[in-house]
Amino acid sequence: MAKVQQVPDDNYPFLSGGGEMGELVRSFDWSSTPMGTPETWPVALKIIVGTMLRSPFPMHITWGDQFIQLYNDGYRPLLGNFKHPKALGIPIWESFPEIWDTVGPMFHGVMEGQSVRFPDFKLFLDRNGFMEECYFDFAYSPIIDEYGVIRGVLTNEIETTERKLIELEKENLADELNAINEEMVAANAELKMANEGLEQAQEELQATFLQLGESEIALRLAIEAANFGTWHIHSVTRAFVTSHRLKELFGYRHDEDITIEDAIACITDDYRSYVATALENAIYKGGNYDVTYPVVGFHDNQLRWLRAIGNLKADVSGEFSDFTGVVMDVSDQKKDEQRKNDFIGMVSHELKTPLTSLNAYLQLLQIKARKAEDTFTIGALDQSVKQVKKMTVMINGFLNVSRLESGKINIEKQLFDMADLVKEVKEETIEMISTHRVIFHPVKSTLVNADMDKIGQVINNFISNAVKYSKAGSTIQVSCITTNGVAQVSVSDEGIGIRGQDLQQLFERYYRVENNNNISGFGIGLYLCAEIISRHNGKIWVESELEKGSTFYFSLPLA
Ligand code: ADP
Repeated sequence: MAKVQQVPDDNYPFLSGGGEMGELVRSFDWSSTPMGTPETWPVALKIIVGTMLRSPFPMHITWGDQFIQLYNDGYRPLLGNFKHPKALGIPIWESFPEIWDTVGPMFHGVMEGQSVRFPDFKLFLDRNGFMEECYFDFAYSPIIDEYGVIRGVLTNEIETTERKLIELEKENLADELNAINEEMVAANAELKMANEGLEQAQEELQATFLQLGESEIALRLAIEAANFGTWHIHSVTRAFVTSHRLKELFGYRHDEDITIEDAIACITDDYRSYVATALENAIYKGGNYDVTYPVVGFHDNQLRWLRAIGNLKADVSGEFSDFTGVVMDVSDQKKDEQRKNDFIGMVSHELKTPLTSLNAYLQLLQIKARKAEDTFTIGALDQSVKQVKKMTVMINGFLNVSRLESGKINIEKQLFDMADLVKEVKEETIEMISTHRVIFHPVKSTLVNADMDKIGQVINNFISNAVKYSKAGSTIQVSCITTNGVAQVSVSDEGIGIRGQDLQQLFERYYRVENNNNISGFGIGLYLCAEIISRHNGKIWVESELEKGSTFYFSLPLA
């Protein structure tokens, strides 16, 4: 520990002046250090200390192998609050343990004759109670005595921390600025691209508008050429906006107003409620609207068949929908269909009489052949009877279609037991079908109010299809159960099955699945079944898997 000693200035003329540090150096007890009292100092030390104390530039000296320190007023701030005044008269490594690893080798180098100079050298100093990032511009040079021996190290040093930190800050800012600039350039490029995209979108939009205009013209021309009537219905106000052609089709004059109710009133009695319900469903429940119906013109009293197709579109506001559509005159097609149906009906009817006689003759021949025990003829006649039956079924089918189309099919309902009907069907089937194993599951007594013949026809149709579309020897199962308040009949087979996309259309008139061309048929059996079941307020459907088999179902309300 340094001791303070009052030594008058003039005892050490070489130590005079030098401000505060001069005073401290003079009053310091140098005798407790390896340097000894100042009067014993070598000339070189005396001179350099005196010079240092008077220098306004920050200077520091270490003397001897122990690197004992002296410094001037200019150097003091570099030592912070912690290192001054303790640093005076003690070895440098005791004052700067945190940087000795770095500067120690330099000091030793200087003691061996090397001078060093570093601008903006970074050091972490603990001079104010915390580690500080500091920068110094310094030079270490050897102090030589009169004999040319290196005795100490002179440090000329200025702190550049403030300037350096500002510089670093500037560099950082410049880097950030650069990064921002780059981002801005990239953002600009993106903006440019977005702009280009926007321009292109605008051009496409214009082109689309043009096309839209063109397609609107094309649509109008097509509607005019096809002589379609058009209409719009506002779902909330029910405003009915119609074209002149629509008014004509309902027998109204162009200048007359027509409401939805006026149009519906023109529809014939038997179709009116069907069309009105379909229309309400389409507007308020988004149902399909494709209806064909007859109307009697309001002024001209002419009967016309019309087909109307509509489409519901919600307004962007979500507050109402616009129900629009076209209506066309299909009277000619209807007349053609009527003529075709009449023809088919007439031909089928005419064919039925000779076929009935043929059947009767064949039965007579069968009796005769049995009596004569002519086995060959018996066999041939059995086959002929089967073929005649098949033909009868086919002709009845056509007859039924034509009756159905002209509204002449009659449903004669009666109360009967499904168990009895299934029994009848079973007997017929056993007699007719020998190629397949047909299993009839037991049926509990199930009363329904229906047309027994026609329901029997439906079951027979299911069975004959099962036979037609499955391999000989495979099994067909027929069952009738009661479930959820309905009688449910099902016929399942192990046949070719039906693809999912065909299932919906099977029940349409003349619909046949493409890949069964080698199996004869006209696609009317299931259509008739569906019509018969719908007239009983029942349901008809099918479940099927390709190459695994199908199950056809229908259900009827219980009596
Ligand atoms: P078709 O006289 O052609 O048999 P249907 O109306 O009875 O007419 O049947 C329509 C179509 O449904 C048939 O052409 C056939 O493709 C298909 N189909 C009906 N029943 C079956 C079944 N059990 N298995 C596979 N396909 C069937």
